[in-house]
Amino acid sequence: MTRLTDPFARDITYLRVSVTDRCDFRCVYCMSENMQFLPKKELLTLEELDRLCSAFVRLGVSKLRITGGEPLVRRGIMTFFDSMSRHLDSGALHELTLTTNGSQLAKYADDLAACGVRRINISLDTLDDDKFAKITRWGRLPQVIKGIDTAQKAGMRVKINVVALKGFNEDELFTLTEWCAERDMDLTFIEVMPMGDIGNENRLGQYWPLADLRATLASNYSLTDLPLNTGGPARYVELAETKQKIGFITPLTHNFCESCNRVRITCTGEIYTCLGQEGHSDLRAPLRATEADGPLEEAIHRAIGLKPKGHDFDYSRQRLDGQMSRHMSHTGG
Ligand code: SAM
Ligand code: SF4
Repeated sequence: MTRLTDPFARDITYLRVSVTDRCDFRCVYCMSENMQFLPKKELLTLEELDRLCSAFVRLGVSKLRITGGEPLVRRGIMTFFDSMSRHLDSGALHELTLTTNGSQLAKYADDLAACGVRRINISLDTLDDDKFAKITRWGRLPQVIKGIDTAQKAGMRVKINVVALKGFNEDELFTLTEWCAERDMDLTFIEVMPMGDIGNENRLGQYWPLADLRATLASNYSLTDLPLNTGGPARYVELAETKQKIGFITPLTHNFCESCNRVRITCTGEIYTCLGQEGHSDLRAPLRATEADGPLEEAIHRAIGLKPKGHDFDYSRQRLDGQMSRHMSHTGG
């Protein structure tokens, strides 16, 4: 089986799959209040998702991240996780993981752990009940905290993802850091990205550059850069005082493209080989055309052959150059 290598000699070993565009929250930077979701028949079925992910695993993908929308609101999703665990058992897949808002974790954390999920990313932008309700519009903080507790009890390593939002969670920088340290959880800050129409929210008003966040962090802790390169957009530091690893995802101010090892699949089976480019290919048609996997694998190879060298987000001139029309919940964050 020919492995997946793109035109710039980057091996593609990391696949992120959005399993639904739906969500039980409406975070202000991600969705508008009255989102129009896709008709169900547009979405890949769980069987199609299984075939697609298994094809990528055969072609050398060793890390699979399930995302959305909110992956845990997709009906029957635990059947899918259970089925994917066979690739962990065979040794072909090294990591099966997900990014979640945590709302359903109290219910599913034990089952996820049983399917071989060892690490999990949970998005949480504030520790204040009222602010949480405001930023997620529909979410409730205690439910998420209960989910985090259950995930930790189930033995999963938790990483908290915080979107850095100017005037919103600037004042919680140290509180969030200490809270994660106390609970032995990793922490990553994400710069807000221009993805999709979000109604009346003002993106430039939300933008809190991570360089500024880092400087504030450095006023309270001693930071050491870590050489860790995950092939992704995150850079890491260690805080001497807490021995914590903190990540910064800065797609807008830094180019991380040269070491990019990942591709994304939308809930409708389109493959995006770059988060910051509109270029994509359809994998649903070859998936639905025949039960044979040959045409699907050929389509995957063709798509990887079109992976661009890099992307062009740019806030620097106070315009949203490179703004993407699709929502993060469609492509999967
Ligand atoms: N619903 C799940 C969650 O919130 O973790 C998974 C999907 S969500 C789209 C994945 C990640 O993308 C979350 O950490 C979320 O905070 C982040 N995200 C969503 N919209 C974003 C934006 N415009 N800029 C930066 N990060 C964003
Ligand atoms: Fe839902 Fe995640 Fe988007 Fe928030 S960030 S609206 S939880 S998909």
